[in-house]
Amino acid sequence: MELLVATHNIHKKEEIQQILSDSFVVKSLTDYNIHDEIVEDGDSFHANALIKAKFCFEKTGIPSLGDDSGLVVESLDGRPGIFSARYAGDHDFAKNIEKVLSEMENVENRKAYFITVLCYYDENGAQYFEGRVHGNLLTENKGQKGFGYDPIFVPEGYELTFAEMNPEDKNQMSHRKQALDLFLKFLKLKEDL
Ligand code: IMP
Repeated sequence: MELLVATHNIHKKEEIQQILSDSFVVKSLTDYNIHDEIVEDGDSFHANALIKAKFCFEKTGIPSLGDDSGLVVESLDGRPGIFSARYAGDHDFAKNIEKVLSEMENVENRKAYFITVLCYYDENGAQYFEGRVHGNLLTENKGQKGFGYDPIFVPEGYELTFAEMNPEDKNQMSHRKQALDLFLKFLKLKEDL
């Protein structure tokens, strides 16, 4: 079965595909030849996930999944939060990390979490699923894998950053994995009704 994910982000698509490999073939907007830029002007992760999923469903008529995610840093009052993708430069991962690290120079509290809010949108409207993974931020990049803020994020109980881990290990515990598990549970319940 195909699942349409409202993103152009190849990294997100690949992670979602790996996590859902037993259940779905994951397709992105690009796979459907949809190249519109979706304006994410919501004031929360939920609002932005809804904007993406609804846009996609209305455009294609196919049940769609929106993923809005980001990094929430305790000592930065929750920033970059919903602005994670464009904190310093639009989807410029290196610049975004640089800005976070410079704002955290000499800051002792390194606590942060990644959050994913999924919105599944079909003819019945919206359903939301959320996942979080807590950890700490380093003072410099470590590792080459993953994307976004992965090189500075060490999940609680581990010594490697997400960018040093194998993708399978990140995808066992990540915010995205937790939200997708709830989504699968919801689909299963729906099937059983
Ligand atoms: P979105 O596409 O608006 O949801 O933006 C998500 C942004 O949050 C990405 O561009 C990354 O900067 C960051 N982000 C989300 N999930 C992850 C992750 O799993 N690892 C690292 N950064 C992430």
